[in-house]
Amino acid sequence: MWEQRWHPLREEWVILAAHRQHRPWSGEEIRSVQVPLPTYVEDCYLCPGNSRVDGQRNPAYRHTFVFENDLPCVSTHAPAAAPPRASMHRSTDARGMARVVCYTPRHDLTLAELDHGGIERLLGVWQSQYIELGAHRDIAHVLIFENKGEVVGVSNPHPHCQIYATNFVFKTIEVEARASERHLAGTGRVLFQDVLNAERRDGRRLLVENDSAIAFVPYFARYAYETYVAPKQTHPSIAALSASELSDLAVVLKEVLVRFDNLWRMSFPYVMALHQAPTDGRPYPGVHFHIEFHPPLRTPTLLKYLAGPEIGGGNFLSDTSPEEKAAELRAVPDIHYKQAGSSRAAGG
Ligand SMILES: [Zn+2]
Ligand SMILES: [Zn+2]
Repeated sequence: MWEQRWHPLREEWVILAAHRQHRPWSGEEIRSVQVPLPTYVEDCYLCPGNSRVDGQRNPAYRHTFVFENDLPCVSTHAPAAAPPRASMHRSTDARGMARVVCYTPRHDLTLAELDHGGIERLLGVWQSQYIELGAHRDIAHVLIFENKGEVVGVSNPHPHCQIYATNFVFKTIEVEARASERHLAGTGRVLFQDVLNAERRDGRRLLVENDSAIAFVPYFARYAYETYVAPKQTHPSIAALSASELSDLAVVLKEVLVRFDNLWRMSFPYVMALHQAPTDGRPYPGVHFHIEFHPPLRTPTLLKYLAGPEIGGGNFLSDTSPEEKAAELRAVPDIHYKQAGSSRAAGG
């Protein structure tokens, strides 16, 4: 395979060179050590009852727990930007709020291992956080994301995500929103619905589907195992989903995560991001809320490095075929390997 595929949401070409995936490799290998974690860790700043860097103590929470990030990247107290010295330079204030959401008091679990009720409850928290933070007058966007795994720089395995509510809209969201608006104005159709319809017609990259939610490896995937999870109906944000849509979404999300972990029987690293409409007060009828997973590993030990083409040239070069990667994810069981092991053991 040697071709370019158009990414309509990012408005860029993705270069596919899948014949390169078996090239000899003598670089660094990622070693994932799978030590079973305890359910509670005394010096974990996210475990219930423990104190954090700023001295505050976590409550004895039972489900999810949301708090203001103690070391925020953005703050409402940010000083005004200094005027640039050169007239061609521009600067403006970077302000906002940063929060952390603990998924569960259990230090040893991951999102993949939460039960349906736990994931559904978390989706409800994302809804209320988006609504609450987005309602602030100077918050233009709410970015909800999870970095999972040491290869994406996460030192604390306690399951959690982060929220950046900012006075600016992140670049990818801005590009996607603009592309969606232009598509709606030009065709009368929602761009993401066209993406969904094409995936359904083709079928080779579909992973999971139920009444109102769907997951697939997009035709234009940049990463091996890149996966989109979305409601079928167009909603500009997670806030607009009904209770039954939220429940269906939780089912599909769970199955995707279980398939990720089952692929190599290890906790699967990823960057997960919720893509939804900015909260700058304008309507975004063309935006279709979806969750994107960007997994950094190509094999259990090989990391996708961003190098010349991506950093130097600005386009992604993918060494894998989205059709093959989707088939791999479909081929693994939909019961988490840890649970499958314990139920076998329990069943004697
Ligand atoms: Zn913990
Ligand atoms: Zn997106």
